[in-house]
Amino acid sequence: MARLREAVLAAPGEARFSLRFAPAPQWRGRIEGWTQAAVPMRCERCLEPVEVALGGPVALYVVDSEQQLEQLARGEEGMVLPEATVKLSDWIEDELVLSLPVAPRHADCTLPAVPTREVVPVEAPENPFAALQRLKDDD
Ligand SMILES: [Zn+2]
Repeated sequence: MARLREAVLAAPGEARFSLRFAPAPQWRGRIEGWTQAAVPMRCERCLEPVEVALGGPVALYVVDSEQQLEQLARGEEGMVLPEATVKLSDWIEDELVLSLPVAPRHADCTLPAVPTREVVPVEAPENPFAALQRLKDDD
């Protein structure tokens, strides 16, 4: 799982999955189940390793072409499979890579968030000397 390995601190010890291949009347088939793996990534807050759960539920139709993909009902997911067979480990790796978090972090990270560079408008306090200056000008 080279592509997944590049994105994380260490390769997952194991990737678990449960997939059921069912016939689909209109398409080549349907895949249902789930994928699951736990990998260490670097917490973007404290920069320490954090265990991240990858994978998730799988429910999609297998189709022959992009055109068929567009014919799927709204909300249905599909996968174009031009070749007769696909290497299962490659496919599961794809699923895991797709579920990689953009910004991994500990759920209870104790470090405060890195301050952002957002500019917060603050009302400038009146310069006390300006008031004195006005008093002087009145003389
Ligand atoms: Zn952290």
